[in-house]
Amino acid sequence: MRSTLSTLELLRPRTLDEALERMTGTPRPTPLGGGTDLFVYLNAGTQAGERYLDLTRIASLAKVRVARGAITIGGGVTFRAIRDHAEIRRRFPALVAAASEVGAWQIQNRATIAGNIANASPAGDSLPVLLAHDAVVRVASVRGERDIAFAELYRGYRDLAIEPDELVTAVTLPTPPARHRAFFRKVGTRRAQSISKVVFAGLIATDRSGVVSHVRLAYGSMAPVPARALGSENALLNAPITPHTIAAARAALPTDFTPIDDIRSDRGYRAKVAGNILEQFLRALSAA
Ligand SMILES: Cc1cc2nc3c(=O)[nH]c(=O)nc-3n(C[C@H](O)[C@H](O)[C@H](O)COP(=O)(O)OP(=O)(O)OC[C@H]3O[C@@H](n4cnc5c(N)ncnc54)[C@H](O)[C@@H]3O)c2cc1C
Repeated sequence: MRSTLSTLELLRPRTLDEALERMTGTPRPTPLGGGTDLFVYLNAGTQAGERYLDLTRIASLAKVRVARGAITIGGGVTFRAIRDHAEIRRRFPALVAAASEVGAWQIQNRATIAGNIANASPAGDSLPVLLAHDAVVRVASVRGERDIAFAELYRGYRDLAIEPDELVTAVTLPTPPARHRAFFRKVGTRRAQSISKVVFAGLIATDRSGVVSHVRLAYGSMAPVPARALGSENALLNAPITPHTIAAARAALPTDFTPIDDIRSDRGYRAKVAGNILEQFLRALSAA
């Protein structure tokens, strides 16, 4: 049954310290970013809890910091702000591409990157990009702050390695390696405004002779958590990108994933599309 909004309590801290203090309260409030996931759950009556902690007034969460090539994006930064940020556009175009495909403008204006991370849907569009970029997630509680490698954030389906009183305060994308190219592609039911059947982000760097020196191939919607295609990565590392290595990388994909079957797609379709997207990325690189 749909939740009755008038019965819900909304806490509206203005500082992070106040928010963290609130997270120790009983009952513990549910963090509320843009509400684009939470309101769906409230509307469907699947969201338990009557206290909510509105994070949108905390200015420090809405900041983007640039330092020596790395970018730290506050948890409250919206996908619209990511799309519009000149330095993110210049350094992390795959993240901008992902941000541009999260719902429509109305959603992007409200949806935050921390909400996408904490909601932990395997179909979350920013997640493969963060995985491919070796991002680091900062979480905070009254006990202090700690950093979690994005690759270690999800323990299982919608199971995050964060404590119940911790908030996601920021995510840092380190400086990518020299001579790298990044790529993002989402395939859904239609070209825009759909949840992904397969979502992919790739990051490959080559040395001056064209040999692959760094490779990250990350998929969403293929497994219960966003995951790298390690076998395909191994097929590419320390070799030039040729028709032979492209075929080897593609052939390794079934060893990396047994794609999920769910309401959005089936595993046969996902397996085929995952291979096609990988090939699209690699062919674009070999042609460059
Ligand atoms: C019409 C529609 C289309 C959508 N399309 C897409 C799409 O194409 N791609 C996609 O990836 N997603 C899509 N979404 C889902 C949603 O917009 C994203 O997941 C968004 O990033 C959620 O962010 P939010 O700030 O709105 O999160 P909220 O709804 O506020 O919160 C989501 C979850 O994260 C938790 N949370 C929020 N902030 C924090 C924090 N700082 N620390 C700890 N926990 C926190 C909340 O408690 C909640 O569990 C869509 C949603 C709608 C309604």
